[in-house]
Amino acid sequence: MLRPRTSKMPILDLLKKIDIEKPVRIMEVCGTHTMAIARSGLKQLLPSNIGLISGPGCPVCVTHQQDIERALLLAAEPKVTIATFGDMMRVPGSTGSLQDIRARGADVRVVYSPMDAVNLARENPEREVVFLAVGFETTAPTVAAAVLQAAQSDVNNFSILSLHKLIIPAMAALLNDPETEVDGFLCPGHVSTIIGTEPYSFIPEEYGKGCVVSGFEPEDILESILLLAKQIKYKEYKVENQYTRGVRKEGNRTALALMEKFFEPHSVLWRGLGPIERSGLKLRPQFDRFNAEKKFDIHDAKVQASPVGCMCDRILKGKQRPEECPLFGKSCTPASPTGPCMVSSEGACAAEYYNA
Ligand code: SF4
Repeated sequence: MLRPRTSKMPILDLLKKIDIEKPVRIMEVCGTHTMAIARSGLKQLLPSNIGLISGPGCPVCVTHQQDIERALLLAAEPKVTIATFGDMMRVPGSTGSLQDIRARGADVRVVYSPMDAVNLARENPEREVVFLAVGFETTAPTVAAAVLQAAQSDVNNFSILSLHKLIIPAMAALLNDPETEVDGFLCPGHVSTIIGTEPYSFIPEEYGKGCVVSGFEPEDILESILLLAKQIKYKEYKVENQYTRGVRKEGNRTALALMEKFFEPHSVLWRGLGPIERSGLKLRPQFDRFNAEKKFDIHDAKVQASPVGCMCDRILKGKQRPEECPLFGKSCTPASPTGPCMVSSEGACAAEYYNA
């Protein structure tokens, strides 16, 4: 029986006791939360007036189609070796995926950390190794550490294509969108270990909405929903931290300083959310020699925002659920994905498919 730390009554009973007048929509913006919610069947357990929706929490899913095309163009360069996390391999582009282009002879490797990519460059000095740097604030410090390592050991055939995204501007964009009706956020535990809880304060202060930084166990998520439900019921909106064992108010200052030293914010395109000001990270000019965009002539092709028939755009904004997509589980499955939300294990469609 799941109980909050402050009460002996099971969380679900407490949730049922909170009589919220209207239906509420709570959005999670973290792929690990999406998976944990689907695996534990939490949506089905909640009172019918509390709905959970997935937002832009999967880094592979929010990578814009234009950036997928740029990665494919780079992979086609004869001297280039692409190093990437596995999830990026199967995202469909206009000429196939990175996996397809590898089958046609391109040198594309799966790595488990950015440091692996630096080692790959060191071991293959005749190649130009480009790491596809995808991820939120959780990943960016490790990529900064890899660039630092490359700089200190003169590995000059290493560079990154920075596709990093920042979650705070995306949450603000969602709140500014009149079509996205969100009553509160489950804030991402991993990202918050880096940025802390302070950056979320604009949510209650400027938008009058609730938010709770949540851990990843079903008990954590249920307790966070209970805290949010209370905020909504009593209209006492604030930033609460349920994940106190992992997240401090000030975040991780060392990681933030490393990120700050190597990266600066810039405006980027998100799949589903479109252009958002200062929502991406690019390398600072003093590190241009590690910036793939400066090293290579990568032109932007005109691309469709999403594959034909795919509703990832709407799913990432919480406007549609995976099972409402006509392709879900039919022509689009994890074995043969049409869009990125079915590719990544953190994607809303894959999470729903595996746990339906
Ligand atoms: Fe796109 Fe497939 Fe999800 Fe439909 S089920 S939105 S096609 S990824």
